[in-house]
Amino acid sequence: MRTTASTIVKGQGPDGNTEPAQGGNVYTDPALAFQHVGLTFENGTQALDGIDIAIRPGEFVSLVGPSGCGKSTLLRLAARFEQPTAGTVSVATGKLGYVFQEATLLPWRSVLRNVELPAELAGVDKATRRAGAREALELVGLSGFENHKPAQLSGGMRMRASIARALTGAPELFLFDEPFGALDEITRQRLNEEVSGLYRRSGFTGVFVTHSVAEAVFMSSRVVVLTGRPGRVAADIAVPLDFPRSPESRYAPEFGAVAAEVSAALHDAERGATRIEGRAA
Ligand code: ADP
Repeated sequence: MRTTASTIVKGQGPDGNTEPAQGGNVYTDPALAFQHVGLTFENGTQALDGIDIAIRPGEFVSLVGPSGCGKSTLLRLAARFEQPTAGTVSVATGKLGYVFQEATLLPWRSVLRNVELPAELAGVDKATRRAGAREALELVGLSGFENHKPAQLSGGMRMRASIARALTGAPELFLFDEPFGALDEITRQRLNEEVSGLYRRSGFTGVFVTHSVAEAVFMSSRVVVLTGRPGRVAADIAVPLDFPRSPESRYAPEFGAVAAEVSAALHDAERGATRIEGRAA
């Protein structure tokens, strides 16, 4: 399904090109667009209100905001696990990848058999799905661990297996729901670098939920900050750093400047103020 024009702020793709401003930063055919989206659950909880976010193909956008502001709900809307009660959600591809907070591997299956599970459920023949699973495991650095059970892996390795499982579907839109929140800082940084490398090589569109400002800035071409519940867009901040991002880019002055801007927007968001960059009047 193709989408129609949506409001967008300036962003930067993996090729390092900055989207030129077009008539107040409006462009057509986003990979994912939330237009005036609201969601009130049946129990009366209003999770989201008036969300306008358009993500162009090849962007990597992080969502940050206070706990309970609706970040995961936005991903579930993108995956059609939920329906909005107001507005529209447009997704330009059916090829979705989804990585959750937990690795959600079946403990009785080997790593290889976990990673091939989606293809198995889709009826793909054994040789083809095994080849796809091995390739995905190689991409995430888990070759040699095919026959291990999840319990024999570290937390970081389990998350790599979860990412490999999602990669077998060759996602065009990859949704990450705070996948590295439970990992130690060094493992988390390494996985940030690996996912960023996968993004650059594969060219998927990424949407990444996180509580970490540093992780959001390192991974993303844009960071969207949401207010406390009901979640509204409080700030939409471009990250003017080229891809690929080296580990050292975390120490660049530009990195610190964007991280400071995102942190300030988060604090503003908690107080209810908004700071929308590049938004048409
Ligand atoms: P975040 O990911 O930002 O922490 P969520 O998207 O998980 O927030 O949830 C947003 C709000 O909606 C929270 O207050 C949460 O308790 C509530 N919520 C989420 N799912 C449901 C549901 N199925 N029914 C009722 N309330 C829900």
